Amino acid sequence: RFLSLEGGEGAGKSTQVRALASALEARGLSVLVTREPGGSEGAEAIRALLMQGDVARWSAHAETLLFAAARADHVEKVIRPALEAGTWVITDRFIDSTRAYQGVAGGIDDAAILALHGFGARGLLPDRTFVLDVPVAEGARRAAMRDGEMADRFAMRGEHFHADVARAFRSFASREPGRFRIVDANRATGDVTAMLLAELSDLLP
Ligand code: C5P
Repeated sequence: RFLSLEGGEGAGKSTQVRALASALEARGLSVLVTREPGGSEGAEAIRALLMQGDVARWSAHAETLLFAAARADHVEKVIRPALEAGTWVITDRFIDSTRAYQGVAGGIDDAAILALHGFGARGLLPDRTFVLDVPVAEGARRAAMRDGEMADRFAMRGEHFHADVARAFRSFASREPGRFRIVDANRATGDVTAMLLAELSDLLP
């Protein structure tokens, strides 16, 4: 099975990806944890290009293509082989981050992003996508506490942009309720993990 966790900065995705992986491993499943942008050697090289310098370094179209290229490599080299071996894959961000950041907040057409995904990653979609929802101000506070560089990137794009991102994830979820679950991430870590597990009960063996 293939799971993705989505949400804005400071939503606690990386903590929950690890906690969920441990919970699934405790049930005897083989689990691979990965993240985007990155997750394969080529995609990590593209991540470095994306993260260097100012957020406005790349044109919106070029940035979208770089994310799509990174994802294509990540899917073909890492995700698909693991899924074919029967391993569960949990990724910290996937296609819906591009649809939210570069798409809704960045102005790139959603249909174009999905067409690139069809070509680059042969349209692979997660079996379930969790949106970790925290108020934008709380996300900013958590991001600032954790990591100076990330806080800088947050500030560079402003609260407006991040509010658009949060709204985008909620709107994707409402349009595709079979794949998505929105989880209130403004709670204790263990409670959030328990909610994720509960929302996976239909997929568990
Ligand atoms: O929160 P995380 O560490 O996963 O995000 C890394 C950085 O990449 C953040 O600054 C995030 O806003 C940015 N990002 C982006 N577009 C994406 C995915 C991530 O701008 N599609």
